[in-house]
Amino acid sequence: MLRVISVVAAMLVSAFGGTVAAQEYPTRPVSLVVPFAAGGPTDTLARNLAQHMTKTMKQQVIVENRAGAGGTLAPALVSKSKPDGYQVLIAHIGMSTAPALYRKLPFNPLTDFEYIGQVADVPMTLIARTGLPPDNYKDFVTYVKANKDKLNMGNAGLGAASHLCGLLFMSRIESDIQTIPYTGTGPAMSALMGNQVDLMCDQTTNTTGAIQSGKVKVFGVTTKKRVPSLQYVPTLHEQGLKDFEVAVWHGLYVAKGTPKPVLDKLNLALNIAIKDPQFKESMAKLGAEPVSADRATPESLAKHLKAEIDKWGPIIKKAGVYAD
Ligand code: ASP
Repeated sequence: MLRVISVVAAMLVSAFGGTVAAQEYPTRPVSLVVPFAAGGPTDTLARNLAQHMTKTMKQQVIVENRAGAGGTLAPALVSKSKPDGYQVLIAHIGMSTAPALYRKLPFNPLTDFEYIGQVADVPMTLIARTGLPPDNYKDFVTYVKANKDKLNMGNAGLGAASHLCGLLFMSRIESDIQTIPYTGTGPAMSALMGNQVDLMCDQTTNTTGAIQSGKVKVFGVTTKKRVPSLQYVPTLHEQGLKDFEVAVWHGLYVAKGTPKPVLDKLNLALNIAIKDPQFKESMAKLGAEPVSADRATPESLAKHLKAEIDKWGPIIKKAGVYAD
């Protein structure tokens, strides 16, 4: 009997203690886990967001880069982390393509997480090293088709947005180009500027500065509408790749079982950030657009993720691309 009472008492203390901990969250720094290397687009978005979330959370939100396996290492780590809200994952469209791309995915995007909300949409750009001869899109396509066996394209690994965009582009111009995976498009961009890589498709959060300063050549943006910060760059759609559209959406996730008060605090911090004029402005300069409030919700992220998994699954299966 005494043992039963002490077990019940211990359970109560732990449940009550958990609730108190959740109410007081956060009492120490929170990690914002980025699935790619520092200096790339996901990292840039995360660092901007972390700065703003720090203000609301009244605790440091620290970016932690856990690159690897095309961006699937970080979700795997966060899915297995303690569900206390101290490991928050920022992940992009790759969360919806990974289930079809990876035969042995060590996490399930639909069942292993609690959702906080969507963050921002980021268009991509098709870029090349400055030494590549063509100067316009039409000549570029002719050149790529004629030299496809000699060219290469950098990306952030299987399932990264840069990989998907590259695959879509190659399939549209019916030319297979060798791909070179990096731990993120930050390092891939350095390789491109160092002439080790010829081409890349990457988010404007990484390419805007390099395009504006002429450190890379640009052949088009991947959204149907031009990007305000790169108004002079035509879309691929308007240059003949009809309906070509890739925009990279991002979401925030924590481990399944994280208590509701913690989820609410993270969601509040996200919502304050996306409405902050400073955040909007710094994102706009990089071509990115924070989501509207109706998308910065757990429900919206859950719905969008599911729809994207359903959309990409058949496309990827048809393309026959996968990793064991
Ligand atoms: N987001 C990039 C990609 O998917 C990688 C990165 O952030 O470094 O290609």
